Amino acid sequence: MSEPQDTIFSKIIRKEIAAQVVYEDDLAIAFKDIHPQAPIHILVIPKQPIPKLDDAQAQDAALLGHLLLTVKHVAAHLKIKDGYRVVINNGENGGQTVDHLHLHILGGRHMKWPPG
Ligand code: 5GP
Repeated sequence: MSEPQDTIFSKIIRKEIAAQVVYEDDLAIAFKDIHPQAPIHILVIPKQPIPKLDDAQAQDAALLGHLLLTVKHVAAHLKIKDGYRVVINNGENGGQTVDHLHLHILGGRHMKWPPG
């Protein structure tokens, strides 16, 4: 289990660095990815600094559900047509680069499978 880190996402939560926030509530915040991989690329993160999915515990179940419902809410709010992809990169081989759990929402183009 990883210790919570003070990451760039912690700074975005605390409004110490700017981000294009599209949704926020008591538990989560969603903002545009700085290096978009699709016409729409949003990150949904918990305000609680869980480093990665592997670090989530049983008591985080409601929060994890809230993050998924936040994805749905954000996608509806942004009027993403024709579907979208939700991605969680977990750990080094998963391609995770920021040690704060985040869900990518990718939309606005047709996604390929399998991802790289
Ligand atoms: P990961 O590779 O860890 O799944 O995704 C991290 C994502 O965070 C990347 O897509 C990267 O572009 C994004 N990112 C990294 N630093 C910043 C930042 O300072 N602001 C924003 N908005 N996105 C960031």
